[in-house]
Amino acid sequence: MANRNKDDNRPTIPLGRADPTMFPSYQTSPSFADAIADAVRSFKFNCYPPSFGVAQARRAVAEHLSKDLPYHLAPDDVYLTIGCTQAIEIVLSVLARPGANILLPRPGYPQYEARAGCSNLEARHFDLIPERGWEVDLDSVVALADENTVAMVIINPSNPCGNIFTYQHLKKIAETARKLGIFVISDEVYAHLAFGNNPFVPMGVFGSVVPVLTLGSLSKRWIVPGWRFGWIVTTDPGGIFQKQGLVHSIQSYLDITTDPPTFMQGALTQILEQTEEDFFSKILNLLREAADLLFDRVKEIPCLTCPHKPDGSMSVMVKLNLSVLEGIIDDVDFCMKLAKEESVVVLPGVAVGLKNWLRISTAVEFSSLDDGLRRIKTFYHRHAKKE
Ligand SMILES: *Cc1c(COP(=O)(O)O)cnc(C)c1O
Repeated sequence: MANRNKDDNRPTIPLGRADPTMFPSYQTSPSFADAIADAVRSFKFNCYPPSFGVAQARRAVAEHLSKDLPYHLAPDDVYLTIGCTQAIEIVLSVLARPGANILLPRPGYPQYEARAGCSNLEARHFDLIPERGWEVDLDSVVALADENTVAMVIINPSNPCGNIFTYQHLKKIAETARKLGIFVISDEVYAHLAFGNNPFVPMGVFGSVVPVLTLGSLSKRWIVPGWRFGWIVTTDPGGIFQKQGLVHSIQSYLDITTDPPTFMQGALTQILEQTEEDFFSKILNLLREAADLLFDRVKEIPCLTCPHKPDGSMSVMVKLNLSVLEGIIDDVDFCMKLAKEESVVVLPGVAVGLKNWLRISTAVEFSSLDDGLRRIKTFYHRHAKKE
């Protein structure tokens, strides 16, 4: 909607999306593309994929994730999916049963609400606390959970907040979930996109405290959202999911759904084994510079505050202070008028569950972010409340 009815004919600066592939600085490494080409040209991967996936691809994911865990994952712990989106679909679908509920973060990633809605799984929201670096309000988790709660979801590194949970905080989450008798779904689609003070620690590190379903994909770190490749991993050294029948449910669901293309599975080992340190560090540097720029510039725009400098992922939440603006009703109104007058698109916070906030993407060309923030400042001055 914000893209229509523009008064301004400059090209739109898209600070609302999480797909950076349109920007020249955010191109994937040619060697990942070679891996795909090699897999296709081998003519070994033209068949239907075997059920549950190509064995060597499952092994590649298991090896890749095991590097950061205190125990070793087996290929059988891994299920290959069509992006993290299908991982969310599968997990929420198998968890749904009459009366069940799931605890989701607010702000969060709206795909969870949408999928829970489709599956008749009741969504209940716990808060993330901006003043505490967007940590989980564990008291609200305890207050929401009951005997019908199946799991809680965390997104780490966080979209939309840009924070990364510390080891200590993840431990507290694990202990809280254990006490409540629920397990944790950890969306780690931004795993290792960490450029600030907090290092990335996978939730699976606490798999022996509480069983964890880890979701991931190539989309963000490898900058290939269009390749549609992801995974669900049972990070559960105690084998609790097996005993509870969840493994069987996931397998049954996979039997009736479609799989990622065989050649993508065939290319996976080559993709995950390539270290490509230069590529990864270049992306982290770009994201760090963008986060620094955004954090500094927001201080010069009185209608915005950024409570926590991003440590990771590709977006950040900034709070809108409507009291210093004239004629702007809420976050949606702000975004619509900003697009109309300045050709800058940012996402209203209400889209991720937090009214009167904005989500700004940092995975954009540096010059675009710079220009976009200047235009937001101009927009503020045009709409600032007169004393
Ligand atoms: C992008 C994203 C997804 C979806 O990942 P795909 O691999 O593109 O399907 C899931 N969760 C979060 C938090 C995301 O930002």
